[in-house]
Order: sequence, then C-alpha cells, then structure tokens
Amino acid sequence: MKAFLTRRKSLLVAASAALALTLSACGGGTGTGTSPSPVEKPSFAAGSTMEKLTSAGKVTIGTKFDQPLFGQKGLDGKPVGFDVEIGKLIAAKLGIAADKIEWVETVSANREQFIKQGKVDLIVATYTINDKRKTEVDFAGPYYEAGQALMVNKDNTTITKPEDVKGKNVCSVTGSTPAGTIVEKYGATLVPATTYSACLEPLRNKQVEAITTDNVILAGFVNKEPDAFKLASDETFTKEPYGIGLKKDDTEFRNWINDQLEGFGKDGSYKKAWEATAGAVIKTAPELPAIDRY
Ligand code: GLU
Repeated sequence: MKAFLTRRKSLLVAASAALALTLSACGGGTGTGTSPSPVEKPSFAAGSTMEKLTSAGKVTIGTKFDQPLFGQKGLDGKPVGFDVEIGKLIAAKLGIAADKIEWVETVSANREQFIKQGKVDLIVATYTINDKRKTEVDFAGPYYEAGQALMVNKDNTTITKPEDVKGKNVCSVTGSTPAGTIVEKYGATLVPATTYSACLEPLRNKQVEAITTDNVILAGFVNKEPDAFKLASDETFTKEPYGIGLKKDDTEFRNWINDQLEGFGKDGSYKKAWEATAGAVIKTAPELPAIDRY
C-alpha cells in the first residue's frame, strides 16, 4: 500500500512538472534561439556558391513564418524556431552572422519556385525530401524526421486515426505532402489553405473536422492552445524527412552543407539548437538522422 501511494505521488509530481513546462512554453513562445558565432574569413574554392555567399557577406534563407517551434516570425520581425537555428548555423559556417541573414517567407507551394528563381539561396522550412521534389531542387540532409498526424478540436471523440477522416473535410496546405496523402490514401475531402495557421479558424468553427500535417507543426499549435486543440493520436502515419532545399545540381554546395550538418551533430550545436527552440515543448530530443548523400 505504501509503495502504491509513493508511486501515485511520484506520478502526480511528474504530471504537474510536465504541465508547468508546457505552460511556461505557452506564454513566452520558445525564446529567441541562439546566435552562433560566424567563422572568421572562411575560404572556399573560387566560383563555388559558398565563396559567392561568403564574399557577399549575406545569405537569403526561406523559412516558415507561422509555425511555432520550427519557424515563426516574432514580434521583432525575426523568425524563431529549429529550422531558423539550422539556417543560422549554416550561415555562421559561411562567415555570416545571424543579423546578416535575409529571411524570406516560403509557404509549402512556392518552395521549388523560389529556389529555381533564385529568390532564396536555401530553404529550411519543414521541407520533406522526396523524389518528385528532387526532380526540381536538391536537398541536403535530412536533419530531422517528422511524420504526418492529425489535429482535432479538444472535444472531438470520433477521429483517432487517418482512416477516420474518409469523406470528411480536412484542412491542409496546397503543395504539401500531407495534403496529397490524406486525399489519395485516406479519401478525405481536402479544404486547402496557403498556410497551416489559416486552417486554425476553420477547425475551431467546425468547418473542417481536422487539420493534417507533420506532427511537430501540429504540436506547436496544440502547445499554444491546449484548451482548444489536441493531436488525434501520438502515432504518425508517414515519414517526413526534412531537408535543406537548394538549387538543383549544385552538388558542391549540397555536399558542403551535408558536411556541416554532420559537424553540428558532433559538436553539440544540433542539440543546442533543438533545446533552444522545439525542445522546450517536444520532450524527445532527436538524434541527427543519417545524411542521405545521393
Ligand atoms: N513536410 C511536409 C512538406 O514538406 C509538410 C510541411 C510543410 O508543408 O511544410 O510538404
């Protein structure tokens, strides 16, 4: 009996500790991230993209502006999140300080175009590596592996798995992999939006019964409004390996970024980037996945 009580007490303590962490993350977002020190005068082969960016002293990076934990524009106009940290770490290796990065909002549907048109040098934006996209752009990475999930209103009791959304209205983003999967594999009726944050009101108003995208994006929204929304389940039903998008066939730049990512995994900066952002809410710290040097 005593043992039971002790155990019960420790469970309660654990539960309230987890809640406290969630609540503190709610109020203050996930901080402002880190400011990695830029390498002084790095030298690169003449004509390489690295050399061009280093001599220009600036880099343009596409990211999301409305996704808590990975890329969200703060009140000071600067984006914050794990994707943003990865971008800052790469810029620092080019000798470029965080305040010399030009951040551009890339939504799911315009990423390939923005790379092709040279509007951005790189994209770090919850961007799944896949063969279709690889016909248009190159990917370094993966640097993280997410998976598709569903978010529903807190009072929903009917949706716990993707099979439950057959024939139901589900909001997702045009040009994203989850939008395709939920229609093609699970027969949902897609209500398309340009960004995931634009799906929040339709869900609240019950114009749609769920929002679908990667688990970590949805976790960011649930963390902000735990009384309104919940994940339908902790299980994911796809693999979404996140890559860094760059111009197709710039193999030298892709290899160099892959080398840097491996370095961040070894020198602790990958872990630090996680802890300063998404790690405040998502308890399981990721290991850097094996780099896909295709
Ligand atoms: N990772 C998925 C994708 O690249 C969903 C997230 C997003 O749309 O950015 O399509």
